Amino acid sequence: MSEALFARAQAVTPGGVNSPVRAFNAVGGTPRFIRSASGAWLRDVDGNDYVDLICSWGPMLLGHAHPEVQAAVSAAITRGTSYGTPTEPEVELAEEIVARTPVEKVRFVSSGTEATMSAIRLARGFTGRDVVVKFAGCYHGHVDSLLASAGSGLATFAVPGTPGVPESSTALTMVLPYNDRAAVEKAFAEHGDRIACLITEAAAGNMGVVPPEQGFNEFLARTCRRYGALFVTDEVMTGFRATRQGYWGLDGRAEGWAPDLMTFGKVMGGGFPAAAFGGRADVMSRLAPQGPVYQAGTLSGNPVATTAGLATLRLATDEVYAHLDAAARTIKDGVVEAFTAAGLPHVVQSAGTMFSVFLTDPAELPGGAVRDFADASRTDTAAYAALFHAMLEAGVYLPPSAFESWFVSAAHDDRAVQTVLDALPVAARAAASAQEAAR
Ligand SMILES: *Cc1c(COP(=O)(O)O)cnc(C)c1O
Repeated sequence: MSEALFARAQAVTPGGVNSPVRAFNAVGGTPRFIRSASGAWLRDVDGNDYVDLICSWGPMLLGHAHPEVQAAVSAAITRGTSYGTPTEPEVELAEEIVARTPVEKVRFVSSGTEATMSAIRLARGFTGRDVVVKFAGCYHGHVDSLLASAGSGLATFAVPGTPGVPESSTALTMVLPYNDRAAVEKAFAEHGDRIACLITEAAAGNMGVVPPEQGFNEFLARTCRRYGALFVTDEVMTGFRATRQGYWGLDGRAEGWAPDLMTFGKVMGGGFPAAAFGGRADVMSRLAPQGPVYQAGTLSGNPVATTAGLATLRLATDEVYAHLDAAARTIKDGVVEAFTAAGLPHVVQSAGTMFSVFLTDPAELPGGAVRDFADASRTDTAAYAALFHAMLEAGVYLPPSAFESWFVSAAHDDRAVQTVLDALPVAARAAASAQEAAR
């Protein structure tokens, strides 16, 4: 039935999907249409079950159809679904986010894209400057000015990363290599008085998982402060996922620095469209209606979505993160063991409870680690496609792209994890054969 649905979907939707990575373009084949999900498992329209290592690309921290989240959402729905007025769950969710992170005030939006777009507008409005610095391989949603690629050769400013983005939208964006302090120093030395903000994923998760090198985020915070630019950490993926306090809980909290602005999404919506940006009170106070920087949203802070997010965060205790850590570690160990046995070169990298697998020979990487987008791009995508389909065949739904984090949930119990471990050896051999055949 997935085949038939996909044919119908393709007739009425570009590529048959409503977000590109759901299609299997990178791995070939037909995406499975999922009818239901429970805990760590997805069930497709043909009745096949899969251990879910996508978790809706991060949000399903507690697993699917968590009974307490469902009860909170069901109760919320009986009270109506949207009023266009302030509500109590918004206040409670904002308080929860303020309690867990260094932000002092938050504004809710409906997607991560909106969060980063709005954070950048606010940074520009606050500083009175126009230039935005980002890193290649960091994804911040499909904001025009951030769908930018580094200009070739000596060009300082970026070029559009996709048709449809005008050059004028990326002319004020600088794209630098991730983890490259010298590039950051040079950009600020040359253009520091024009830079409104630097935005970075707190740990890169959208080119596979590429954590910041020790002290890199602190260096970025310091450099921004020196030049009067705002430091924006995008925690849409890592927030309330990498640790209880997001990735900031791994470096900023220990090192004693805080970003000026942060963005959140995914987990904080509990599986509903909710996202947020927040930060220093003096910066956030520049937003309308308190300040002059305009920003708004009809469904922002929607009572059902904020109820789901609040229930999720309240249930996401230290024990949940410890479980995620343990499940992730067991799967990572299984990957290393199976890939080593199959003679498949690999690099496994983590950011808190998130991790990903690069099919790259560590001997070909300086330091043996993937540090930036150029390194990440070396992964063997054809071998990954073979791995992906062998895992799918064995009942494990990996992200259908080699450049994604693998996600576990609190519901990934021994049976789910064992299903993954059992599938890995055959899949690793399939990937190794694909690599051999391509030589
Ligand atoms: C997913 C993601 C976004 C975009 O969020 P959407 O809700 O898909 O618009 C932005 N930044 C990061 C780091 C993300 O992982």
